[in-house]
Amino acid sequence: MRRAVCPGSFDPVTNGHIDIVQRASALFDEVVVAVGVNKSKNRLFTPEERIEMLREACAGFDNVTVDGFTGLLTDFCAQNGIHAILKGLRAVSDFDYEPPMAQMNASLTDVETVFVPTSPEYSFLASSLVKEVAMFGGDVSALVPDFVHRALTKRLAERAAEQG
Ligand code: ADP
Repeated sequence: MRRAVCPGSFDPVTNGHIDIVQRASALFDEVVVAVGVNKSKNRLFTPEERIEMLREACAGFDNVTVDGFTGLLTDFCAQNGIHAILKGLRAVSDFDYEPPMAQMNASLTDVETVFVPTSPEYSFLASSLVKEVAMFGGDVSALVPDFVHRALTKRLAERAAEQG
């Protein structure tokens, strides 16, 4: 059984993530989307909300499950019999950041990182950018699923009201 993990914070899930998960699901027998739930002040959505949105977004993929993880990704892999980490590569910054991470993870445990190039239409797409553009009223409806767009609009309005 070839099992891979797609890790990330998914705050929130975008069409770029879904594209990568879909491609992972075609390459591997089983795919676990692992949502990092380590404490961070900068998240817009709670771990439970991020996991729930991913479950809805991935509902159409039979061999994909969604789980949360804390601590080291390599420990999560060891606990779940996962030997492959699948990552999408977008901009030059990903090319700088990802190889050392992959080498570190390989040195910690028996796990290989598989890089998949982003689909060109999503190469600019990142959760952080979606949130920033949406916060200033930009239209991000083509970049995330409809239900995520609704949740994003609602949460940003709540945040704006909180901040007066
Ligand atoms: P992080 O919180 O590590 O920055 P994200 O939650 O934004 O990560 O994304 C998780 C992973 O999904 C990234 O490491 C990357 O591999 C992949 N990914 C995200 N957006 C895209 C995209 N537009 N195209 C391809 N891969 C992507």
